[in-house]
Amino acid sequence: MTYTANQQALLARYVKKILAAPVYELAVLTPLQPAPALSEALGNQILLKREDLQPTFSFKIRGAYNKLVQLSDEQKARGVITASAGNHAQGVALAARELGIAATIVMPATTPELKVLGVRSRGAEAVLHGESFPFALAYALDLAARTGRTFVSPFDDPEVIAGQGTVAMEILRQHPADLDAIFVPVGGGGLIAGIAAYVKYLRPQVRIIGVESEHSACLGAALQADERVVLPNVGTFADGVAVAQIGVYGFEVCRFCVDEMLTVTNDELCAAIKNIYDDTRSITEPSGALAVAGIKKYVARTRARGQTLVAIDSGANINFDSLRHVAERAASCGAPA
Ligand SMILES: *Cc1c(COP(=O)(O)O)cnc(C)c1O
Repeated sequence: MTYTANQQALLARYVKKILAAPVYELAVLTPLQPAPALSEALGNQILLKREDLQPTFSFKIRGAYNKLVQLSDEQKARGVITASAGNHAQGVALAARELGIAATIVMPATTPELKVLGVRSRGAEAVLHGESFPFALAYALDLAARTGRTFVSPFDDPEVIAGQGTVAMEILRQHPADLDAIFVPVGGGGLIAGIAAYVKYLRPQVRIIGVESEHSACLGAALQADERVVLPNVGTFADGVAVAQIGVYGFEVCRFCVDEMLTVTNDELCAAIKNIYDDTRSITEPSGALAVAGIKKYVARTRARGQTLVAIDSGANINFDSLRHVAERAASCGAPA
């Protein structure tokens, strides 16, 4: 693949930001861990990037901290506001507390209680508003305009994207040998943009494959239409990725850096949660299992064998009560890989 000078320059700007992002003041370097049972079942080496092990149980802390730490003193004093389906909210709350910044977080009324408590327990103000993310977002933007607080996007911001891109920096250092593909869950596109920019700049032969819930496949739709479309409906089972429109900055990178897109069903997510549990004894949230569900679909379709495939295990914020439903669905669709 060859890129234009402008594309190459865009990637270089992100790589610089990623290398300079001071995320380790708050985030941790997570393991890139083999999944032996899945690897055996699929006939490929499957590695899990364990972002569920971050302090807020998702990678969002990386982007949130990178954004907040770079605000001016005046912006810090005025405070920040954000809209989030939950994981970015906890990231902003923790980063804001660490930096002594006042934070208001607008979350959809459907947000799992666990995520709301995660915000309040970290000292931020949580406002529940709207039925899904787009409504919460509109309200937060309005509040930001009226109060002078800085709006911190969960995905549509170069500093947030660069923070998430540190995941890729770790993966390439942790696995210097050949990698065939990295499977990345997609909501608003911040994570995949950061990962794709870093990987395509340094090791362009590694394929970047985005995985979306079939109920919020806004990047797939945008790539197909060659513009950022707004989905008429968004399903919220995978609440961490329930976004109706891909971000401007993310799309700018994804339109030339993403090799392939896949969608998966809610039942496939439940089965993947079980696969991850079987290999790690850890439970992920539905969005956290997207990449593994995507790998299973990819291997079934392409009959790939002997490849090294990385899945970003992106989060673990699931209400305990939901596990009954997940276990039932996983059993009904035959969870073995
Ligand atoms: C936010 C999130 C994603 C998707 O990240 P985007 O940058 O919005 O594409 C995936 N998984 C989990 C658990 C998340 O919280």
